[in-house]
Amino acid sequence: MKRRDFLKTAAGGVLAASLGLPRVNLLADDLFQAKPTYRWYKGNFHCHSQWSDGVDLPEVVVSEYKRHGYDFLSLTDHNILHKDDLRFTGFSMNYTPSDLKPFEGETSFWKRTAPAAGWPNLVQSHIDKAKEMFGEDSVRIKETADGVYVRMKTEEELRQQFAEPGKFLLMPGFEMTSQWMHVNLINVEEDFFIEGPSIEGVLHDAFDKATELYGANEEPYLFMVNHPLWQYYNIQPSYLFGRPGVRFIELTNNSTQWQYYPEAWDPEQLWDIVNAYRAKNEQPSFFATGTDDSHGVFREDYLAYFGWTRVRAESLDSKSIINGLLQGCSYVSSGCEFADLTFDGKTLAVKLDPQVEGDYRIEFIGTKKDYDETVKYIDVPGEGGRPARKLECWSKEIGKVLETVDGLEGSYTLKQDDLYVRAKAYRIGAGSLYQGSGGKQPTLLAADCAWSQPYRQGEKL
Ligand SMILES: [Zn+2]
Ligand SMILES: [Zn+2]
Repeated sequence: MKRRDFLKTAAGGVLAASLGLPRVNLLADDLFQAKPTYRWYKGNFHCHSQWSDGVDLPEVVVSEYKRHGYDFLSLTDHNILHKDDLRFTGFSMNYTPSDLKPFEGETSFWKRTAPAAGWPNLVQSHIDKAKEMFGEDSVRIKETADGVYVRMKTEEELRQQFAEPGKFLLMPGFEMTSQWMHVNLINVEEDFFIEGPSIEGVLHDAFDKATELYGANEEPYLFMVNHPLWQYYNIQPSYLFGRPGVRFIELTNNSTQWQYYPEAWDPEQLWDIVNAYRAKNEQPSFFATGTDDSHGVFREDYLAYFGWTRVRAESLDSKSIINGLLQGCSYVSSGCEFADLTFDGKTLAVKLDPQVEGDYRIEFIGTKKDYDETVKYIDVPGEGGRPARKLECWSKEIGKVLETVDGLEGSYTLKQDDLYVRAKAYRIGAGSLYQGSGGKQPTLLAADCAWSQPYRQGEKL
């Protein structure tokens, strides 16, 4: 059967966006009904360019996400916003020229090319790729006594080149990169850096700093905890208990293939552990995002476009997108899409819009109110330059499959003893996402999968 015919017989076919009115009724029931223009936008909140350690020039990265059908993108380089100020340093790299004269009156970040390829070098082939795409004059180059310098395009220039109202949105952001912990800040105009001896301390301080810097902003911002398993088990579930204002964890990322201990947790279980704790303690829900943290859109061993977030919003602007996220109107995908997703305060119902032919399964996952809250620990030794870790091990009663439905449609009605429910839909036999060298290392995350957010009893007004 051709994919087109298969989709006709599937869940009604086309994406939620063109179906019209998928509903997630959460904090404001009229959010959707009063505004028939709401649709599901696809985007990525995490990727890198030559502004830090990404392989491709920023215009190449943005252009490729746009070409792959993304509606919004945040280019989140390490510890840097893509601004006008003249600079030669970033992310532990120093390209300061011995003579500043050739750069008088210049703006933005200038990076020196390296003679040979290798992370995170900028080499001639990256320049050639950009020129091939945008023309010979599209890349500004200066040949100096210290070598060849290339000017990086700023966020504003990228926006002028690629943004289109209602079609493609660029959101300013950066990855706050301390030695052991990374968080993304999106829709912000000022960066900051926090370091310290304890990962939990840095996480809490970063959250407090963000609140101090952006809390009074007119526009909302996104504070997202990145790749919790990197480098290995750097973010423990309990670190999220002390800051219930931290609302987002990155579920898909190219750093999810790191060392895994089945006795401990994987990123999906961490998500449940925190949600169980928060629901029990009447704290806000903890939502997941999907990204690919790509470091090169043309590199085979750094896959792009494998994980994304769909956000239901009234229009394609930063405020609407982030408000949609904060209201839980989003889901994560590694290939499967929801054609419909509704929650009426009791029943979570989903319909799939499969992108690949196959048999699909929907799991409704949740945690019971009387779950075992005991935490145990395992000690794992330091190795390969990584420090030793004491890993939290929580009960496997947390994040249990409550019901399974084979097919393209299913629903689950919350029972009195459920803390929350979420839906996970996937193609049976699709296996896991593959990353690493040549895309050959299995990660812990399912391929062709869609994850709804967790929903609690009575969240509908
Ligand atoms: Zn990172
Ligand atoms: Zn990153």
